Amino acid sequence: MEIKEITHSRSVFCDGTFVENNIKSLGHPKVFLQIKDGESTIVCPYCSKQFILEHKDNMILDTH
Ligand SMILES: [Zn+2]
Repeated sequence: MEIKEITHSRSVFCDGTFVENNIKSLGHPKVFLQIKDGESTIVCPYCSKQFILEHKDNMILDTH
């Protein structure tokens, strides 16, 4: 199962909870994740949820 979440911040947290088909998952201990400079995604090591950084004006930040 792939879960994705759009984020506008490089600092995200994940506790593994999500609602699917009106069933709420139990999740995992809350962890903070930091999307690195030059990268736009990070995957939670606990639940494999993918956070996707979305820039407000489609601006690509420096890629080096
Ligand atoms: Zn997670």
